[in-house]
Amino acid sequence: MEFSSKLIEEGVQAFASLPGIGKKTALRLVIHLLHEDEDLAKSISEAIYKLRTEIKYCKKCGNVSDKDICDVCSHPARDHQQICVVENFRDILSLENTGQYKGVYHTLGGLISPLDGVHPEQLNIESLISRVQNDNVQEVIMALNPTIEGDMTLFYISKRLSKFPVKVTALARGVAFGGELEFVDEITLARSLQSRQPYENYITGPHQ
Ligand SMILES: [Zn+2]
Repeated sequence: MEFSSKLIEEGVQAFASLPGIGKKTALRLVIHLLHEDEDLAKSISEAIYKLRTEIKYCKKCGNVSDKDICDVCSHPARDHQQICVVENFRDILSLENTGQYKGVYHTLGGLISPLDGVHPEQLNIESLISRVQNDNVQEVIMALNPTIEGDMTLFYISKRLSKFPVKVTALARGVAFGGELEFVDEITLARSLQSRQPYENYITGPHQ
């Protein structure tokens, strides 16, 4: 695309650097912004910059938060002896939307994937181990995407936790292998959470 204005070109490039936005959509957004009041451009750019520079991550669970400790971790009615382990905060949103879960969370910040260069030490696994060790945790529910990386991470963490007197469970396979939690409907996700099973039964199945 050739533009008669360097400013337009830079605007298009900025939008097109975001996932899912091609050059045509980027141009449409640029044209829209030019037609709207200046205040819109200002408030959008300020919101994006503020989001990126001021976002905090809960010191306990790694969830996104505006405070040092997130609302879930600081809620007195949540069960702090039950930790649900998720890949990222999008999964917390999905699980919270089911309205079924009353425990707390732990965000790993990714999944183990040696092919992509993601190793256990790059994820928030040590902080999970120390929470289990120090907070009298009774159950760790592994709510990871049912993929190779999810299974690898599940296996690694359950091995690390095996020396502690904690029950490790995993979401039931109501979630299709290869699927992603954020795309699962709330009812399926709520059922998978309710019918979670001990991790030992996870691979062989409960009837073998
Ligand atoms: Zn938290």
